[in-house]
Amino acid sequence: MDHHIIIIGGGASALMLASLLPKNTATIIESNPKPGAKILVSGGGKCNITNSRMGTEYFLGDTNFVQEPLKKFNEKALLRWLERQNLNPVLRKETQYFCKDSAKELLDIFLKESKKQTLCTSEQVLEVTKRDEIFYVKTNKRTHTAKAVVVASGGLSYPKIGASSIGYKIAESFGHTVVKTAPALVGFTVQKEQFFFKELSGVSTDVKILVGDHVCEGALLFAHKGVSGPAVLDASLYWEKGKIEIDFLPHFSWKYVQGSKKQISSLLPMPKRVTKAFLLQFQLEDKPFHQCTKEEQETLQTLSHYSFAPAGTFGYAKAEVTKGGVETSEVDSSTMMSKKEEGLYFIGEVLDVTGRLGGYNFQWAFSSAYSCAKHLSRTFS
Ligand SMILES: Cc1cc2nc3c(=O)[nH]c(=O)nc-3n(C[C@H](O)[C@H](O)[C@H](O)COP(=O)(O)OP(=O)(O)OC[C@H]3O[C@@H](n4cnc5c(N)ncnc54)[C@H](O)[C@@H]3O)c2cc1C
Repeated sequence: MDHHIIIIGGGASALMLASLLPKNTATIIESNPKPGAKILVSGGGKCNITNSRMGTEYFLGDTNFVQEPLKKFNEKALLRWLERQNLNPVLRKETQYFCKDSAKELLDIFLKESKKQTLCTSEQVLEVTKRDEIFYVKTNKRTHTAKAVVVASGGLSYPKIGASSIGYKIAESFGHTVVKTAPALVGFTVQKEQFFFKELSGVSTDVKILVGDHVCEGALLFAHKGVSGPAVLDASLYWEKGKIEIDFLPHFSWKYVQGSKKQISSLLPMPKRVTKAFLLQFQLEDKPFHQCTKEEQETLQTLSHYSFAPAGTFGYAKAEVTKGGVETSEVDSSTMMSKKEEGLYFIGEVLDVTGRLGGYNFQWAFSSAYSCAKHLSRTFS
């Protein structure tokens, strides 16, 4: 037997698990030439590690399942662990913790800590089978044997840095259900009625987006192909199809501007370019607000509840995460072990748990890895 534990994938959850396990107990198998590629590109290169506002309400999926790992290793525990490794993340945007200068600061810690395990890179896992209590992990290079296998292979987003569907395939081969996957934390493409957004490419404005019962606040960024930015990315978590409603004037009250002599483009608190683009669409000229007819005022007020159906999303190529994944009711939330196959574990994004924008996905990767590590350490010590 090579090692007791094989970890499939060398991303965030795998590296945390390898760091927490006793020395020489695990082998990480990563298809990329180097582990942790996604960490390096995350958070604009500074990795949004976690958030001071933590709770199950920031996650999509079964909140009962998320609760236990999050309780065992929450944002405070994570920050304490990082502090012990001499990493003190900095707070940005009030609640989000980032690496001070570069995501490499976090990756370096993981590379140092996980050195106590064996790391196989440029090796792609193809299949996992089990016979007589032994797992056989077939790769493009050889077949590893193990007593336990942890699937930490992530989701389908960002295929250019190694994402694959292997985790779902392994889950299904052991009788697990995989909840339909979709790109999430991703921009929306638009239909022809909104093609004029393209003219605003690069402009950002604060909005409130209503998707079903969910309200997502923050910046909206007009993009060449549609809309992006933090509020849109969060909204994509809850969108499947149909209309969304955008309030382009979230801190503005029409009540207090009645009779105003200001030009419309000076009155409305959004970038002038945006106001002018909408005026063009509404076939309204930019004039003093008090000169608008009742009907024209009503047209302008639709900016507070602008409703449209996105054509789709920018897809996995641009999505920060994959929603859906391994059905969590079939996994034990206190150990991350499959309820269908003893010794098979799932951690991180491969599970049907998706966090909102703001460091929640890394927190989930680390919290689920921690629960798994505690159990495996007891089992294999
Ligand atoms: C551009 C971008 C920015 C992001 N920014 C943030 C952020 O700031 N904060 C945040 O919380 N989240 C962020 N995320 C999301 C976060 O990176 C993921 O949720 C997190 O990395 C999931 O960890 P994981 O270990 O489950 O999977 P991953 O980190 O994706 O790791 C999975 C690993 O498995 C490997 N693998 C896949 N298939 C195979 C195979 N067949 N054989 C061997 N290895 C395989 C992959 O190469 C990969 O290294 C971002 C994501 C992207 C794409």
